[in-house]
Formats: sequence, structure tokens, C-alpha cells
Amino acid sequence: MPSQKPGASDLPLPFALDFYPLEAPEFTRIHPFFENLRKARLTTTKCTKCSAVHWQPRVVCPKCNSDSLEWIDLPKEGELFAFTEVRAGAPIGFEKDVPFVTGLVRLKGTEILLTARIDGAMYEALKIGDRVRLKVIILPDGRVWFRFTPA
Ligand SMILES: [Zn+2]
Repeated sequence: MPSQKPGASDLPLPFALDFYPLEAPEFTRIHPFFENLRKARLTTTKCTKCSAVHWQPRVVCPKCNSDSLEWIDLPKEGELFAFTEVRAGAPIGFEKDVPFVTGLVRLKGTEILLTARIDGAMYEALKIGDRVRLKVIILPDGRVWFRFTPA
């Protein structure tokens, strides 16, 4: 379930400066990712021909070029592989959130590394290998995205 609105500015951003993807079926063929995320499921595509698991979700397998893909659930937990803190120079719309932590999360039991904001912890309190779990956020305009929090 979505747990919190982001702290970013509520002002609408010019389209070219919007860091969140358009999620509706008319804009993207990976719209199931967002529909699943809204249900607190982190999902991606898996090729039914060569069994490759992709991150990010794809519409064609980059390994064998098949478009025969299925949606699979990914673990909602992982560990910090790397992280840093944004103290200045935040992208427009994120200025009010400074300082914030962003990192690479290795999903539990996989080789998948994904980038995400890490909420709920100060940079100084984190260390490589810390366990984190998925946090679903709803943007002011209703779109959905994800972050992680310490587990
Ligand atoms: Zn494939």
C-alpha cells in the first residue's frame, strides 16, 4: 500500500524537467509495472524464450530479441550496495528534500541492482549491506513510484 507522499514540491514541473515516467497505457507499454507497483508489487519482465530476467522492465528481450515476456514479482527487500547523500544541486522539484539519501539496492536473492531514494535514515547512520525494504509513494498528481527504507 502507498505509505507516504513524497516531500517534493507540489508545483507542477515543466514536462522536460519531470523525472518521473508517464505511466498510463497510452504512454508506455510497461504500464503493468506501475499498476503492480500501485498494489505494492515490485515487478519486472522475464523472457519466456530464454528466461532472462530484465531490470528495468522491457518490451523486447535485450538478450534474444523475443517479445514474448511475462511479468514476475521481485523481492521487496534488498541490501544497500552503495549510497550517497544529496546535499546540494538537487534536481528541480527536489530542493525541499535536501539532504536526502540515494543509493543502489541489490534485491534479495538476485543480481538486480536498482537505483532509488533511501528514506527514513540519515546518511551517517547507513552502511553498505544494510537491509532495506520497498516503499511505494504516490506523487501529488497520482502517479506511483518507489523508494526504499531501512528494514
Ligand atoms: Zn530472451
